[in-house]
Amino acid sequence: MDRDGCLTEEVGYVNHPSRIRLLPRTAEAVRRLNEAGIAAVMVTNQAGVARGYFSEETLHATNARMRRELEAAGARLDGLYVCMHHPSEGQPPYRAACDCRKPRPGLLRRAAAELGLDLRTSGMVGDKFSDVATGHAVGAAGVLVLTGYGRGEWEYQRHAQSVQPDHVAEDLLDAVEWALAHTAGVRG
Ligand SMILES: [Mg+2]
Ligand SMILES: [Zn+2]
Repeated sequence: MDRDGCLTEEVGYVNHPSRIRLLPRTAEAVRRLNEAGIAAVMVTNQAGVARGYFSEETLHATNARMRRELEAAGARLDGLYVCMHHPSEGQPPYRAACDCRKPRPGLLRRAAAELGLDLRTSGMVGDKFSDVATGHAVGAAGVLVLTGYGRGEWEYQRHAQSVQPDHVAEDLLDAVEWALAHTAGVRG
């Protein structure tokens, strides 16, 4: 799951923990995954670190706050994976042609290795076509949510895209319900 525009409101660069806001049905969506025994993993590009808009410490504090708010609502994230790089902005080590900036699949591969996940039966959910492409790069499903940038991406950009989502969801909970229905079929 992508963070900004998917788990949380898309508000631009989150340069202070107080700017992070869970979307209304996010906790329920994550809780459903927890209850189904499916790993709930966040994968996010945060090039604001490379650009110098906020520090790595601020980023971690922001993610910790989001995680606390989820836990207060009975929802648990099993992993958080972040790309802090940008290919041409800022200074090394953050200025880097990394393998983890979505749509590159480095974060998904790392999560799979560390958490023992099968990416071919996983799904990537986000509010941009680049999230869909990230999923497809590893053989996972790609789901576009209409929250955040999603509605604009879907209405105005879809004809220009070479990748198309396996499902278009109103929000993360809708995406999770679609995934759970599919999982039931796969597991028989
Ligand atoms: Mg996003
Ligand atoms: Zn990276």
